Amino acid sequence: QTCEAEVLLFSVPSYACQRRTTLQNQNAVLTDALSLLAENAELSDEEGRGVAFRRAAAVLKSLPEPVTSMTQLRGLPGLGDHSLRVIKDVLENGASSEVESTKRSERYKALKVLTGIFGVGSKTADRWIRDGIHDLRQLGDSAHTLNRAQQAGLEHYDDLNQPVTKAEADAIGEIVEAAVVSVLPGARMTLIGGFRRGKQTGHDVDFLITHPEEGREVGLMPKVVSRLEAQGFLLYQKTTRNSYLESKDGPGRPSSNMDRFERCFSIFKLTEEERGGMKRADTERESDAHSHTSHQIHTRGRGLEAADEDEGVAEERSKPAGRKRWRAVRVDLVVSPISQFAFALLGWTGSKLFERELRRWAGHEKSMSLSSHALYDSKQSRYLRATSEEEIFSHLGLEFIPPSERNA
Ligand code: ATP
Ligand code: MN
Ligand code: MN
Repeated sequence: QTCEAEVLLFSVPSYACQRRTTLQNQNAVLTDALSLLAENAELSDEEGRGVAFRRAAAVLKSLPEPVTSMTQLRGLPGLGDHSLRVIKDVLENGASSEVESTKRSERYKALKVLTGIFGVGSKTADRWIRDGIHDLRQLGDSAHTLNRAQQAGLEHYDDLNQPVTKAEADAIGEIVEAAVVSVLPGARMTLIGGFRRGKQTGHDVDFLITHPEEGREVGLMPKVVSRLEAQGFLLYQKTTRNSYLESKDGPGRPSSNMDRFERCFSIFKLTEEERGGMKRADTERESDAHSHTSHQIHTRGRGLEAADEDEGVAEERSKPAGRKRWRAVRVDLVVSPISQFAFALLGWTGSKLFERELRRWAGHEKSMSLSSHALYDSKQSRYLRATSEEEIFSHLGLEFIPPSERNA
């Protein structure tokens, strides 16, 4: 930073992966505004606009102090005209008129509610809105058939829209790790995603599983899932097998940002017993959850639930002030061979913008291609090996940024 006519100017490198972004955001008012517009763009399938707002927000998140005047923004990267207009509005008027009108718009509210259902993306929500469906009640009354994921998502709507705490993540970690080790001794499990970046809450819990001997991890996921299912921990799961070797991706040309690891998207049933010492903190928000509507909605095709869950729902209905004995939590499991572990760890730690910026840096600045599986160097026409995240940053010519500083 340099001082110029009493105005503090910031110096910020243009890629988020060159910056240290902690959770101590000094510009939350501004970044909340930009993030809402990013979210709205993403929900409206305007990915480019979404990324532009995300990049602008990330630049402000990396600043060491609150921005108080537009002159401080001179020379900062990633701030387009639209983002600057929004920032100016907030600085001068305390709020952005565009953000406020977006928040009030029926379309945004409907998109939020409908995509709040696990298994419902922006395209599905948009289709439903065009059919006049704006909330869960209208969805329940409609003739729309829901797929298995969406049925589970609707069934557990309130729980899945409550943030997951770190303590809950740790409790689930113990359960999953015990299952992993019991079906494959020596296997290792790592907490990834937002919790690895130090977040205190998340929308889900993400774990990466591997085994120190290459190949031993093959077929692990179905066994872990069977075990957890037999123990009654899974309310829903969808396992996708590893498709990396059979994929048509050329060297350094992944066909999409989606990776090809064996993975499992699940809804975990976390009971009070396992949640242990967390009961008191949760009492308030659990009674909160009862004021919502999803459990009043009639869903068709309730073939999924275990008998005890039906009991739980019945009990909930008859005693609205009573407490449910468990909560549903979204859990993502990924299995990687040890040879790809460092890439998987880096790719699944996030943040999403940090990951996007790493790939952009690799491609635009280094003629390399980074995925959650590998790093390909186009100049040398070869893959670069790595056994740690540090090595990958080094291959990319970047200073190592620890997980807690990847909160772009
Ligand atoms: P939250 O606390 O809201 O869960 P998060 O950072 O953990 O935040 P996730 O959506 O759980 O967000 O994603 C975690 C990481 O996994 C991100 O870095 C994302 O890039 C990566 N990821 C998520 N889904 C996929 C996918 N289908 N393919 C590849 N990577 C993914
Ligand atoms: Mn997550
Ligand atoms: Mn996830």
